[in-house]
Amino acid sequence: MSSVKRFIAGVVCPRCAAMDRIRAWEQNGIRYRDCVNCDFFEQLPIDDEPADELTTRVNEVREEQKHQDDVEPVRILDPGKSSP
Ligand SMILES: [Zn+2]
Repeated sequence: MSSVKRFIAGVVCPRCAAMDRIRAWEQNGIRYRDCVNCDFFEQLPIDDEPADELTTRVNEVREEQKHQDDVEPVRILDPGKSSP
């Protein structure tokens, strides 16, 4: 299994109050959240969550997409340096 950390849009960090700095991911039945702006970190057991947005979490296609996102390389094209 692979877990991909995703930023949650519109979420404010409870520690440093920075917006859009919270990442969330799931691993081994635990949902994790952390902040890239400070050292905030928390983990929540997924089974305690109400089944609203997590209803479709058991979705093979979704897992495959997450995996693709995980391994997709980041390519930065810089035409200005294409020739020595
Ligand atoms: Zn923070």
